[in-house]
Amino acid sequence: MLCPNPACQAEIPLLSSFWLANSVRHQAWVEVNGRPGKIDLGIRVVAPPTGIQLSDGTVKASSVTCPRCGTSMIAKEVREYATKVGFGHILYAVLAIDRKVRTYRAPTAEEIKRAERLATALLDELEETPDGTSPLPDEPITKSQFRILRSLVYGIDTFRGLFNDRQLYVLGSLCEAVRAAHTQMLDEGMQPDRAIAVATYLGLCVDRIADYDSSAGRVQFGGSSLRSAAARHRALLRRECSVAMPRAYSSRTIHSTL
Ligand SMILES: [Zn+2]
Repeated sequence: MLCPNPACQAEIPLLSSFWLANSVRHQAWVEVNGRPGKIDLGIRVVAPPTGIQLSDGTVKASSVTCPRCGTSMIAKEVREYATKVGFGHILYAVLAIDRKVRTYRAPTAEEIKRAERLATALLDELEETPDGTSPLPDEPITKSQFRILRSLVYGIDTFRGLFNDRQLYVLGSLCEAVRAAHTQMLDEGMQPDRAIAVATYLGLCVDRIADYDSSAGRVQFGGSSLRSAAARHRALLRRECSVAMPRAYSSRTIHSTL
């Protein structure tokens, strides 16, 4: 969101913490550098200098503080901004996992461009379900549920709004794969009841992935794992979200997600 200070107007990253990983084996953190109208985010994979406080990010108790000029917005002002203007999203860190070795780095310019455009373009390729249901969850969220579904107070009033386009494409593709698997099971002679049971099991896997891969899910900074949306409905403003495949979760295989 944009800083309301006329002399600053930097785009404030909404981070609950500047840590990406803070374990005995691994430390990675976000370095914030402000310049007029802009806040640059760098990724550091060394121990931070003594005295730097990284646990408190730019968001605290639903209020937001600009890291460049120190201007703060109270929760009510943040909600008004969200409903009138809306929050954006940026790719600011990439976590690669290769045989349990984790590497954090800043995204390349090409990755940022692709993250913004590629998935958006690919969404059109997702097919409707056989009964004509949209492949994207564009159903409205019941507005009377705002005390539980905190996205509503920030103007996010459809289930689709809980996901960015990359997350939507990953989840939509997985749903297509489950439907295709069900068809293939029947084609190969599996009993219909068993095929439905297996497809339901796979659907539950996708459901759990959606729980972790949404704007309401986030990176669990202490251990580099992912945290589900259910665990943080009251903290939706913390906007660090992830896009991951199940086998890429730290200790989370497709079976362990269930
Ligand atoms: Zn500012």
